[in-house]
Amino acid sequence: ESRAVAARIGGVLELFEAVCAREEAELGRIDAIAGDGDHGQGMAYGSAGAANAARAALADGAGARTLLVRAGEAWSESAGGTSGALWGAALIAAGGVFADDSGSSPRTVVDALDAGIDAVLRLGGAAVGDKTMVDAALPFRTTLDRAFTGDDAAAAIQEAARTARAAADATADITAALGRARVLGDRSLGTPDPGAISFSLLMAELGEHLS
Ligand code: ADP
Ligand code: MG
Ligand code: MG
Repeated sequence: ESRAVAARIGGVLELFEAVCAREEAELGRIDAIAGDGDHGQGMAYGSAGAANAARAALADGAGARTLLVRAGEAWSESAGGTSGALWGAALIAAGGVFADDSGSSPRTVVDALDAGIDAVLRLGGAAVGDKTMVDAALPFRTTLDRAFTGDDAAAAIQEAARTARAAADATADITAALGRARVLGDRSLGTPDPGAISFSLLMAELGEHLS
């Protein structure tokens, strides 16, 4: 039933809020080295806005699709910044995979993650190697689609999240090409992309929560 699915998604968004609050200072520190230092704040505000919107949607009796669309809109509005717009679009696209009047399956969860990552690629236009969250999100998706065999979404997400973390760490070796970091160029060398790190942290949390 979609309301039960909506309640579980609301729970995930509350966990995202907690992770972003916990990691806010570190994500800000990383972003300050080659960017403008606001990534921790953007993720904290965005995820808190999304969790609040999810609570309000649940109180309204909303289904999973509506909850995710409202949460995505709130994430963009609350965060501001590039990553806020991308996470907001990802949640809205993921919501489009769920229904308001029926339940979900492990396959639905994997399809929703695929749709969210597609939205980031479409809206942001970044490619692998541009030193953005795409450097973690694309390897995540490749591993997820390979590891998921139809029944255990949590195990596949956990494996994909480990791939994403390794890929995020490896962005330390590349020079930023997109986003605000491009202005400062080589200063990003030796530091991973903050958006790739936050992506991998949230996917690790999701995999752990679903298991
Ligand atoms: P801003 O860059 O507006 O200050 P944030 O600091 O919150 O926003 O987010 C920066 C992160 O956004 C980067 O570390 C990168 O991962 C991600 N990002 C920036 N531009 C793009 C893009 N075109 N596509 C995908 N991700 C991007
Ligand atoms: Mg920033
Ligand atoms: Mg900024």
